[in-house]
Amino acid sequence: MDFPIYFDYAASCPIHPTILDQLNLSLKSNFGNAGSDFHYYGWKADETIQKARMTFQHYFKVKNSNIIFTSGATEANNLALMGSLKKFQKPGHIISSQIEHKAVLEVFFELENQGWEISLIDHDKNGELNLDQLKAAIKENTRLISIMWVNNELGTINPIQEIRKICQNHQIIFHSDFTQGIGKLPLEFPLPDLISLSGHKLYSPKGIGALINVSSIEIQPIWKGGSQEFGLRPGTSPHFLIEAMGKSIELIPQFLNRVNQLSEWNKELVFELKSALGDNITFNSFNSIPHILNFSLKNLDYEKLFLRLNKLAITNGSACNFKTKKPSHVLRALGYPEQDALSSIRLSLGIFTTKEEIEFTKIYLPKIINELYNERVD
Ligand code: PMP
Repeated sequence: MDFPIYFDYAASCPIHPTILDQLNLSLKSNFGNAGSDFHYYGWKADETIQKARMTFQHYFKVKNSNIIFTSGATEANNLALMGSLKKFQKPGHIISSQIEHKAVLEVFFELENQGWEISLIDHDKNGELNLDQLKAAIKENTRLISIMWVNNELGTINPIQEIRKICQNHQIIFHSDFTQGIGKLPLEFPLPDLISLSGHKLYSPKGIGALINVSSIEIQPIWKGGSQEFGLRPGTSPHFLIEAMGKSIELIPQFLNRVNQLSEWNKELVFELKSALGDNITFNSFNSIPHILNFSLKNLDYEKLFLRLNKLAITNGSACNFKTKKPSHVLRALGYPEQDALSSIRLSLGIFTTKEEIEFTKIYLPKIINELYNERVD
């Protein structure tokens, strides 16, 4: 067993061996520019893109022109939100939630600066979205709702079909960040109008993602350049990354096959932690995917906590927040005091997690936390 044990799959995944083999091959021999129309090397690069596009078309049941490859989910979110709202002559009203990823929230704040009115819906202490508040927030000039499928810190699953119906009834664009749901839950059709994806949460390398424009919404370019990706994401196509992401999509049935096992392990971890830590531990989510386990510890110095848990690669929330040393905006939005939000742990499992790793963690994690409680001088 290798230490520290990797429990940060929600931040990024190791590259799948099948994808790595393909990448090695392509990096060596498939180096042309997919836009070079006059020779073999260009055709070969373009062929890999077209093949990946076919895989996407089948999986998401969309047309070729509905798939826009980007550098990741951040770019996909920016393009979905900024690009689909550009057509409105006058800024209107848009809705999202308090616990969205920064890659959506920060775009909302930028749009607010541009004159859009924004409403951010609450979630209860268990991470459940307040659907009544969402319905009540809709106005005549509400143009778009963006609610993620699965929350990256809590693992909570949002009611996508219900939100989709609400949007459809009011003729509002529905965008959903699918980054943490894809490959962990089966797709449910019909899909939202716009969905964002990230390759590195699906065992592809970093630097690739996609926006799926399911309902052929009018999207105007937000970047200027060449005609790649239908002019919506100009720049030389990283065909080997697109190829990798196509492979990720092909591998989804394999990823889904691991879900029941992960669910059992998640339950075992919860049981051990609860038994050992009693009232000192609070589990921060309910109705979550089994890949993510998030809990807070009462009155513990979080820096000491993470220093001592050095046999585990874990975080206290989103990797995107960590360097700021600020408490997670997600836990704060659920009403957690700053200290509890800081001394929270997100443990995320993936397809390479082993029984041995779980057995070790079931003993190690509560043991170290209890040691810290015993050392404490209040
Ligand atoms: N949305 C969610 C829900 C995420 O978890 C992440 C990655 N932390 C992103 C967006 C950003 O994805 P990327 O790194 O592909 O830009």
